[in-house]
Amino acid sequence: MTYGLLIDVSKCTGCRSCVVGCKNWHDIPAGEHGRIRLMDLTTGEYPDVSRWIFPVMCMQCAYPPCVSVCRYDAGFIDEHGIVSVNLKKCVGCELCTLACPYGQRHMGQKGKVAKGCDFCMDRVREGQQPYCVETCPTDALIFGDLDNPQSTISTLIQQEKAQPLKKKFRTRPKVFYANLNHGLPGFSPSRKAPH
Ligand code: SF4
Ligand code: SF4
Ligand code: SF4
Repeated sequence: MTYGLLIDVSKCTGCRSCVVGCKNWHDIPAGEHGRIRLMDLTTGEYPDVSRWIFPVMCMQCAYPPCVSVCRYDAGFIDEHGIVSVNLKKCVGCELCTLACPYGQRHMGQKGKVAKGCDFCMDRVREGQQPYCVETCPTDALIFGDLDNPQSTISTLIQQEKAQPLKKKFRTRPKVFYANLNHGLPGFSPSRKAPH
């Protein structure tokens, strides 16, 4: 089983429930970088204007540079493809934050260790969904098994022709986006956005 996440941009209202719920669940203090950021982009010129709001987090790459650069064996990818950090081994060297092409690794304030979304590994191992998926009121987030072609996520990825962001990075993300214009001008997943 390989876990993945599908984000249907057409269903995201920008309510921030996923951002706030994630910070709550992981006990991330106010002011500290959260695991999810919302992109809020407006493109075009009046009257032909489009607005795009969607969450961006660790892309859970199958070939994660954040793991391969870690010299302390702290970054790892588990048997279900979830990328995370062993906080007991992390020395806070920040190499992984430089290596991530999506700008999705950052240093926590407490203890200066590397942080990032790990699909709520603690919850998933107990058979639950990631917290963002559970809190989303519009079902914009679908989590499931990418190895099973019959799973809801695999079916929707096929139906909606969903794609990862910035495939040119060649890290094989396991986070997919549906109904997003992937050619959005000025869009960069590592662009700074409010926490
Ligand atoms: S998005 Fe960045 S932090 Fe996440 S797995 Fe890929 S390289 Fe690592
Ligand atoms: S900050 Fe931690 S996880 Fe990142 S490369 Fe350094 S030791 Fe590894
Ligand atoms: S909870 Fe759902 S609708 Fe709200 S911002 Fe997150 S993805 Fe969008």
